[in-house]
Amino acid sequence: MKVCKFGGSSVADAKQIKKILNIINNDATKKYIVVSAPGKRHNKDVKVTDLLIGLVEAVTYRKDYQELIAQILERFLQIERELNIRHSLIETFRTQLNDYIMRYQDQPERLTDALKSCGEDFNAQLIASYNNEQGIMTTYLSPGDIGLIVSDEPSNAIVLEESYEKIKNNLAHAEGKVIIPGFFGVNKNGDINTFSRGGSDITGAIIASSLSSDVYENFTDVSGIFSANPNIVDHPASIIQLTYEEMRELSYAGFSVFHDEALLPVYRSQIPVNIKNTNDPDHPGTLITNTRQSTGVVGVSCDTGFASINMKKYLMNREIGFTRRLLSILEDMNISYEHMPSGIDDISIILRAHQLEGKEAKLLEKIEHELKVDALSIEKNIAILMVVGLGMKTLVGTANKATEAFKAHNINLKMINQGSSEISMMFGIEEKDANQAVLAAYEAYFTH
Ligand code: ASP
Repeated sequence: MKVCKFGGSSVADAKQIKKILNIINNDATKKYIVVSAPGKRHNKDVKVTDLLIGLVEAVTYRKDYQELIAQILERFLQIERELNIRHSLIETFRTQLNDYIMRYQDQPERLTDALKSCGEDFNAQLIASYNNEQGIMTTYLSPGDIGLIVSDEPSNAIVLEESYEKIKNNLAHAEGKVIIPGFFGVNKNGDINTFSRGGSDITGAIIASSLSSDVYENFTDVSGIFSANPNIVDHPASIIQLTYEEMRELSYAGFSVFHDEALLPVYRSQIPVNIKNTNDPDHPGTLITNTRQSTGVVGVSCDTGFASINMKKYLMNREIGFTRRLLSILEDMNISYEHMPSGIDDISIILRAHQLEGKEAKLLEKIEHELKVDALSIEKNIAILMVVGLGMKTLVGTANKATEAFKAHNINLKMINQGSSEISMMFGIEEKDANQAVLAAYEAYFTH
């Protein structure tokens, strides 16, 4: 038995929906289907989730929002028309949107999550209803119906442990195909809370894990994961297989094909994830598993928007508790960091620059005052390039390849870090060099 998830572009219009139904209806093992909200039909199109966020803003700022409701419903109406659906659901959807607006207009966070959930929710109902009309027994079940209980953290919910058992029991006797909307769950009081953006991947992973699915098939619009960003590298190699850990390292620094929070449930229950293409379903795609035959580097990723807080203090290495006090300052200010390269008398904290918004001056003042450092500076516009691959452990010269390539392109390295697990290497560079560095590293590892 398989759990399948179809992303926004796979369910963006009637043509795509027919494709996904073809994929699931022709395979009895594909039983549990998680769907996203309709995504972009072309480059300039707007995702239904973004239209819904626009609706939240209009309601919150007391603007006229009827036009937006009409625009959202039009997306679904067009799908219904092109599918020749006999029993239209549009009026039910209209009532649902208006109900949420009435109920939550003075509770912005609840309103946001309730309205945001509608993209997935309506799409799942519509697809289930159409499949039934085609004579294929299909059930729509909402996250509330199946027991997907999440923390009460609007727009950033986390699944609660109890959900796994509940989902397993609730879905045990479901008949026919089961269609479930992705992206949201309900808290213990039944209020809707969404995951972070792109969170339908998380829903699919939770269900796959609850049901011990043989594989979690995640359908998108590319044939698997590439070794580097295809917007930077021309036709990069596809990755046939990689491990959960390698995927985590790559998605941390910009690989967005699969939501990084979705890895945890499948990693824990060791369910393989197969990233596949709705438009080319016979292509094997990329398989994410617990282990694999180790080869060299599997991918190169790069993300921008980092900052580095650099400090120096003479005899820092002798000062017991220096790092602990530094980390307590970060903890008190609710700031998380990503890397902490250090020397004997200096240490740097690399973090996502957005975390400093509104806190920078206070943070620097605290470090200066409490740690009495000799020098303190903050550098922004830093990019982090990750070279990832299990094989690194046993391969001599992996770092050398990248540094040679950077040297050849005159790219200045600000820092280098390798974790103890030896599955990735981090290079800190200036943002302006990011694309050139990806090209250089890709060439060094994949074309020689
Ligand atoms: N529709 C949501 C988004 O656009 C969730 C998803 O597609 O996974 O973020």
